[in-house]
Amino acid sequence: MKDRFNRICIIGAGPAGSMSAYLLKKSGFDVVIVDKYSTPKRKVCGEYLCPSGVDLLNKQGLKFIVEDFRRVSGMKIVSPMGRSVLSFFPEGRIINYGASVNRSIFDQRLRDLGKNEGCKYIEGHAVTNIQQEGSSWIVILESGEKVLCDLVIGADGINSPTAQIFGHKELINTNRIALHVYIPLKDRKFYSRLGQMHITKDGSYVGLNPINENEINFSIVCSKEKLKHMSGREIINEAIRSSHILRSYFDEIDNETKISTAGSIKNKNSFIAGDGVAYVGDSAGFIDPLTGEGIYNSLQGAIFLNDALQKSPNNLGLKAYKEQKIKFFREKNILNNVFQLIIKTPFLCELVASFLIVRQKRADTFIGIIGNIYKPLEGIKKLLFQS
Ligand SMILES: Cc1cc2nc3c(=O)[nH]c(=O)nc-3n(C[C@H](O)[C@H](O)[C@H](O)COP(=O)(O)OP(=O)(O)OC[C@H]3O[C@@H](n4cnc5c(N)ncnc54)[C@H](O)[C@@H]3O)c2cc1C
Repeated sequence: MKDRFNRICIIGAGPAGSMSAYLLKKSGFDVVIVDKYSTPKRKVCGEYLCPSGVDLLNKQGLKFIVEDFRRVSGMKIVSPMGRSVLSFFPEGRIINYGASVNRSIFDQRLRDLGKNEGCKYIEGHAVTNIQQEGSSWIVILESGEKVLCDLVIGADGINSPTAQIFGHKELINTNRIALHVYIPLKDRKFYSRLGQMHITKDGSYVGLNPINENEINFSIVCSKEKLKHMSGREIINEAIRSSHILRSYFDEIDNETKISTAGSIKNKNSFIAGDGVAYVGDSAGFIDPLTGEGIYNSLQGAIFLNDALQKSPNNLGLKAYKEQKIKFFREKNILNNVFQLIIKTPFLCELVASFLIVRQKRADTFIGIIGNIYKPLEGIKKLLFQS
């Protein structure tokens, strides 16, 4: 591979790809970015940007990207037995609110950043292959067009065709799926600026994000097995029926309601970066949407990649990026795996809910950890020892 990367081809113009394109172009690289869709889709996503994500955009001078979206001031967490924990993002070293974004508008704004900076965008064409030619790569699009570059950045999401082409995508057991719909509230009196997480007795969970008064983003993560016996509509309606809170908010959905499905909600890629290839965002690894940090992680990953390549525009920079990424996300990844275990064990859910419900400060600290207002260890200490 080249001693110095000049030409970069980024595959995928979601948050990770577009943020990388924008920053790397500003750092002086020659950037081409390819996306299979000509305009961003409203994908299967809770569309909640956590406080650390809002804070990151503010610090990059990009406040306008989320400014007009409604704020999320906290979370209501409902345990399998119906214990309801209300929590508000605490004031800390960063902003104490998240945002309910519309992904198609949000992703388009990020794409426009790179375009305005002078990146070349090729939209509406999927990448189908990548070949090595000497010390360069040839990225081949379905249209037959070829892009020659020194560094390939895979930012093509959880199923990452780039990682599949290079053989970096690891096979993991993904026995959970996500179903996603937009549902109106029965009555506007239920509208509030809190996100919601309803955990069910079978280890599934429902996430609610109030985009606006008429549109609640509703996603359910459950076992794949369920789809063998029930349709997506039946699964969603069962979740609504079996919770008195959800039942009071929503009518059951009819055949006309469009349901989107995400067949895999996990990705493992231990390669991350090296030898003229780097991954950013979900393509570099994704655990589960439970804590709603995917967008933030993607944006933060792009910043780490740009910082490292600015210092060393070569494989040493990629090595530094990999190390930084692993170090930064290590604590949170461990914690998120613990959260997964708790969600799947109703007894533990009740224990945690009973602990949090006793004091408002506890609940707020807990949600501060999830929203990255506190670092995991710092937050856990606060949680256990606060008066
Ligand atoms: C059910 C569910 C709920 C979620 N809720 C939240 C939430 O509330 N908050 C949050 O922060 N995160 C959430 N996430 C995670 C979040 O959606 C992702 O982490 C985020 O979208 C990752 O951004 P990305 O840029 O890495 O990938 P993506 O946003 O997936 O972008 C990848 C891009 O690559 C393009 N692409 C794919 N293949 C090709 C190809 N062959 N050629 C060219 N282009 C290609 C796609 O068109 C797409 O534009 C959720 C995920 C799921 C599954």
